[in-house]
This record gives sequence, C-alpha cells and structure tokens, in this order.
Amino acid sequence: MKNNKLKLTLNIILFFAFVFGCSQTKPILSTETSNIINTFYGDALEYKESYGLLKDLTKNVGQRLSGSLGAENAVLWSKTIMENYGFDNVYLQEVMVPHWERGDLEECFFYSNSKRVDLKILGAGGTISTAKEGVTAEVVEVSSLEDVEKLGKKTISGKIVFYNKGFNPRYINQGASYGQTGFQRRLGAIKAAEYGAVASVFRSLSSIEDDVPHTGGMSYSNKFDSIPHGALGVLSSIKLSEELKKNPKTKITVKLSGKWFPDALSHNVIGEIIGSVNPKNIITVGGHLDSWDVGEGAHDDGAGCVHAIGALRLFQQQKIKPKNTLRAVMFMNEENGLRGGVEYAAVAKKLNEIHIAAIESDASAYVPRGFGFSGNEKQLNKIQGWLGYFNKNTISYFSKGGGGADIGPLHRSFGTPVFGLSVDGQKYFEMHHTQKDVFELINARELELGTASIASLIYLIDTYDL
Ligand SMILES: [Zn+2]
Repeated sequence: MKNNKLKLTLNIILFFAFVFGCSQTKPILSTETSNIINTFYGDALEYKESYGLLKDLTKNVGQRLSGSLGAENAVLWSKTIMENYGFDNVYLQEVMVPHWERGDLEECFFYSNSKRVDLKILGAGGTISTAKEGVTAEVVEVSSLEDVEKLGKKTISGKIVFYNKGFNPRYINQGASYGQTGFQRRLGAIKAAEYGAVASVFRSLSSIEDDVPHTGGMSYSNKFDSIPHGALGVLSSIKLSEELKKNPKTKITVKLSGKWFPDALSHNVIGEIIGSVNPKNIITVGGHLDSWDVGEGAHDDGAGCVHAIGALRLFQQQKIKPKNTLRAVMFMNEENGLRGGVEYAAVAKKLNEIHIAAIESDASAYVPRGFGFSGNEKQLNKIQGWLGYFNKNTISYFSKGGGGADIGPLHRSFGTPVFGLSVDGQKYFEMHHTQKDVFELINARELELGTASIASLIYLIDTYDL
C-alpha cells in the first residue's frame, strides 16, 4: 500500500514534469495551422504564380527607375495584376518622386606608356554629367572618408578621389560588408567635393572580382559643389590601384552623363484582402516596385513585389478569410529617395490607420532562411514559438532587428512591429544594382519558398496575434 502510494505520487510528479518540460521546449502546434502552412508551400511550389508574375514584370515592363516610363508601366502592371486576381480593394496612392536619367556617355581611361587602358565605369544614380571631353586629373586613392579629411585640401584639390575599399571576404554575412563599404557610393562625392576634388570614383560594392560596375544611390550637399561620381568595376579598381603604385602621377579621364528633372508624379500600388473580423487592423506586406536603370530589377526588388502579391494570392487559393486586413504594397522609390515608404506612413497617420504588423521583402529571391524582427521582447519570444511550423530548410530563425527601408517610417511613427525576410545572400552582391540582375538568375523554387514563407508568417500573425 505504502509502496503503491509512493509510486502514484512519483507518477504524478513525472507526468507534470513531462507536461511542463514539453511546454518549455516545444510549444504545442495546431494541426490545422500546420496543414494550412504546408499547403501554402505546396501551392506555391506547384503553381509557381510568383515566378510567372516576375517573368511578366521583368520581361514586359523591365527597368523601372523612379520617374521613368518603366516605373509608370510597373504601377499599371501591378494594379492590373491585383485587380485580375480579384483582391477586394486595389488602388493607387499618389507620391512625388525624384527623376534622374542616365545619359549615354560613360567612359574612364588612363594612359600607361602612351597606351590607353580602359576602365569599366557606371555613373552612380544621381550623378551630374562631366563635359563631353570628360574630366582629366591626377588620382588620389583612399579607403575612407577620414582619409580624405586627413589628406586635406592641399592634396585633394583639383584631383579625382578614388575610393577603393573592398568587401571583407571573412564575413559570412556579405550585407555587413555592403554596410561597411556603402559610404563610398553614398557620401563619397560630398566628401571629395568638400576638399576640392573635381570628380570621384569608387570601387563597386561587390562581393566578387569581376568587372561589372554596380550603381546605386548617392548624395550631394548644398554646401559643396556637385561633382561627377561613378562606380568602377572591381577589376578596373584593382588595375587602377596597381598603376598608381607604379606611377602615382597617373591621370585618369572620367566621362559621365546624367540629368535631373523636376519631381514626377508616381504611385504606391496597394491591393487588399479585407479582414473578416477586424477589417480596420492592417497587416502590410511589401516590396519596392522601382529598380535601377541597369538590368531588370529581378532580385532587387521585383522578387519582393511578387512575394507580396503572391502571398495574398496563396490566401485566396486556400479560400482563407483573414481576420485582419491584408495589404500588399508595391512601394515606389526605395532606391533613390524612399518617398513611397515615407508617404505610406504619412497617409496612415492622416487616416488614423491601425497597423498591427508590416513585412518587407527586399533581400532578393534566394532561399529564405529567417525573418529579422523589430518589436518588443515579448513579441519576439512569442514568434520564436512559431518556428516549429516551418521546415528548417526554409525559415529557421527570427532574429532581433530588421524590417525594411519602406516600412521603416511606419515602424518609427507608430512603433509598428516589422519583419524583414532574410535569405541565403551569398550571391546577392555579385549582381546587386548591375546589368546582371535579370530574370534568368531567378530560381523558381527558391522564389516560391519566399512567397510561401511570407504567407505563412502573415497567417500566424493574423491567427495568433503578436
Ligand atoms: Zn531593393
């Protein structure tokens, strides 16, 4: 009898230890939710609708830099696609965007033992033109903005500043290298002009040694002259650096052309599936519709746009009525102004909209790995419990920090919790902002895994709240 009682007590303790232990390490998953999420992945991989959309966008619309005809065609394209899908509400949100166009003249060369050596150059997005004959001057090679300050006006004045800081190959995350070298493109012209340079060039923000230059956003300051600013291919940068070691007096000629126009009227494109329980609560999912004027903007960020439309489409295909309103937003002008993202948050404020979460996909169409998250600790702990719904070969983490440029203003004005899709980005900076970013580089299955991962995250937020 005594023994039996002891056994019973022990069993009870073990039972509770088991239950408690389980709830600590493995949250209980709902079979219904698992089935819905598995079906998102299955449908995405089988029907490949995002892939079809991306092919259409890249091949029939193509380049779509803000203010261009391509951008306006992309606005009409996304509106038509979402209308044809029968989303509840499809509309345009007006936004004035900067308008810059590249010209035909892009050349860079020097003479070595009276032999002309050509370098690959591509104007940074927003550069002014040189005169037709270009700018010819001696070169000062630097690897930071501080280098320019240290060398001072005496050395820099009248010269061409050459920023030559490469990616750090030791980093697993090449985005960190991009972050550390981005100053050359974004701020290089301002600093060089402050110290009297007549032009500036920089090593492309690239993870590989090829000679395809990468463009991207740059700035000028009212305080200093605007000077031509261009990206050199990585091999061209190495070539120029070697020449400067042999002959520090080497002069290069830079020819660039680009023209600014008055701001143009453009639009964010919005498609909604109205919530069945809390229609006023909004979950935004977006990518940016504009691209650079080289390549087709397939990875950057056509992929993000079709991820967003495709995610809502997956809800439609399973006939899921979300509790909250789901909004696919094609943001305009992420690349050179962020006007679309700023306007979206401003309108949300004006209309007193309730944004419960926002998700951005602007990291390419490669295999999804996780989501970066900016919200509070409690929310982060809660979403960690959702990882069990994902196949580990797709989403395996929710990491602290992250979101996206376009949803940043929403996060800053409302404290909206924001997510950014993270992918296997090893190849991204081989073609980011170059002529190589075309549809042919897209793998249908990888792209579709992204769409399904985003649809799954939206479903979890909509069903279980943050
Ligand atoms: Zn982008």
